[in-house]
Amino acid sequence: MTELKKYQMYINGEWVESASGEYFDSYNPATGEAWCQVAKGNAEDVDRAVQSAHNAFLHSGWVNMTFTERGRLVRKLGELIAEHAEELAEVETLDNGKLIREMRGQVKYLPEFFYYYAGLADKIHGRTLPIDKNDMFAFTSKEPLGVVAAITPWNSPLYLTTLKLAPALIAGNTIVIKPSEMTSASLLELVKLVEKAGFPPGVVNVVTGFGMPVGDSLTSHPLVRRIAFTGGSESARHIVRNSAQNFAQVSLELGGKSPNIVFEDANPDNAAMGIIAGIFGASGQSCVAGSRAFLHVDIYDKVMQKLVDRVSQIKIGDPFQNETEMGPLATQAQLERVEKYVSIGLDEGGKLVHGGKRPKQLEKGWYFEPTIFEHTDNKSRITKEEIFGPVLSVIPFKDEAEVIQLANSTDYGLAAGIWVSDIAKAHRVAKAIRAGIVWVNTYRSISPIAAIGGSGLSGYGREGGYEAIHEYMQDKVVWINT
Ligand code: NAD
Repeated sequence: MTELKKYQMYINGEWVESASGEYFDSYNPATGEAWCQVAKGNAEDVDRAVQSAHNAFLHSGWVNMTFTERGRLVRKLGELIAEHAEELAEVETLDNGKLIREMRGQVKYLPEFFYYYAGLADKIHGRTLPIDKNDMFAFTSKEPLGVVAAITPWNSPLYLTTLKLAPALIAGNTIVIKPSEMTSASLLELVKLVEKAGFPPGVVNVVTGFGMPVGDSLTSHPLVRRIAFTGGSESARHIVRNSAQNFAQVSLELGGKSPNIVFEDANPDNAAMGIIAGIFGASGQSCVAGSRAFLHVDIYDKVMQKLVDRVSQIKIGDPFQNETEMGPLATQAQLERVEKYVSIGLDEGGKLVHGGKRPKQLEKGWYFEPTIFEHTDNKSRITKEEIFGPVLSVIPFKDEAEVIQLANSTDYGLAAGIWVSDIAKAHRVAKAIRAGIVWVNTYRSISPIAAIGGSGLSGYGREGGYEAIHEYMQDKVVWINT
């Protein structure tokens, strides 16, 4: 048997073994077979990485580097990502199962995030305070926080790390990243580019391994000043409890149960295509997946027919083939979770109108058919709980007030889509929906300028946009007696 490729961890500017010397397997979701091994970190490795980040914060010259120089390094990293886009896309497809054409589009766009934050480098500044005492002068300055811990999930490793890495660095922090144990490889490839860009040793570190003990010891480490977490609610609760030990600041990007609302005056073709892209893109494994579609009764049959017609043509298969439209789920556990929710949906009276099982022709790999349920109301567990898979719940509604109440009847508050022609209605409903992002006549549009984040069970804090800079900085007020 050929030996699998091995990935080490990156600490203090060096590729190193874990303290235990152990590795764990990472799997190709398209075949269900191990394709590489990743160093299995522990608390000792975390301490080494945090100490090196702390040391770099205090002594490497990183904090006192001019903003222009820091901006140049962050921009350089973006340029290197653009140069190595194809390799990065291929590794993430291999490790996570996301379509290669989707990954190519995503990695082509990633450098824009680094360029955006590099461009903000010399625009971060404090202000003078108009103190009402003649002999006093005061001003504020913006300072970095120190060591940032970034913890990411398996569904979009490169993108979700970029959202943390670029603003944290531009603000002058140092960082320890813990990628998901399911998908560490593409981030480790990106970190090779961090090394190439010439960041001082210790500014960026990666410890690979499992939530317990790596994520746990990282989020309870006394030298960590900020925790940027993307993942599930249970891990988030644990992390918030850990953060209380040292009062590290926390931002949480968690799950969603996002609605797509289609009013009677919407363009039915655009709405159907938007709903499909919103829920079946990345096989539904997206925090903003539009997993609930509310269709006005006057347009219900038309949109439903279009949904079923198009979904029945979706080509499922090898994520490396250009014509494939839906790849596998990223992990076996995720496949089993989706199957469990489909059976709950059936038990609770949902009508299965499409999919609901593994495709017959694909014996190997963790594939699942795009699945559509019809419900008469919003009460089933599958209309309330995040499935994180290709399962759409379709629910009818009669008027604006009713659909606002239905859309908001979830503990999540991340994203929403509205399909409508009446612009006044678009504004009213966008205002009334509890969500951090509302898309009108579009879905899943992203830009480095536009922040994402939610409320309720979807977490708190914002990533992306100008807002993210403030998540990684603190204000100092200086008083001068003249
Ligand atoms: P998860 O919470 O199981 O794991 C996320 C990360 O946390 C992993 O790196 C994991 O090792 C680590 N972790 C697990 N337990 C931990 C602990 N006790 N202490 C510290 N770290 C720990 O989530 P997942 O299954 O990898 O990801 C799926 C979830 O992520 C979904 O709920 C999804 O909605 C959410 N998500 C949110 C966004 C967003 O931007 N809002 C984006 C993508 C995914």
